[in-house]
Amino acid sequence: MPVNRRRVRAAKRRKSRLAKGVHDLTDAQWGALREIWGGCAYCGATGTPLHRDCVLPVARDGRYTLANVVPACPTCNSSKWHSEVTGWMRRKGLAEKAFLARHLAIHTSLAASAEMPAEAPSPLLDVSASPSTAPNE
Ligand SMILES: [Zn+2]
Repeated sequence: MPVNRRRVRAAKRRKSRLAKGVHDLTDAQWGALREIWGGCAYCGATGTPLHRDCVLPVARDGRYTLANVVPACPTCNSSKWHSEVTGWMRRKGLAEKAFLARHLAIHTSLAASAEMPAEAPSPLLDVSASPSTAPNE
């Protein structure tokens, strides 16, 4: 049956896509990001719709991931566009160092609290592969 082989191939493709971390921001992560930033990550604007902005633009190989997405107001979002973030912030007179520090801190705390059970390696594989880990005494 060819069906099975096709399913295996699809699963493999999916696995490698996930391994590359492509566009894997979940709705829950996005909600957490908006809540923690409490407004536009760049200019601090509140009371405005917030867009998912890729700090490293998709055009420059950025992806919609927890590490790369911040909430941005429509003004910042459309102004930044494909620009490299620090250069753009400097041009706009925004505090890029404060932004980078906060971005890092927020990502670190969210990543730690989210601990995704990412494909646990099978413990069975280890047993046969390491015969000589006994302390030599
Ligand atoms: Zn803004």
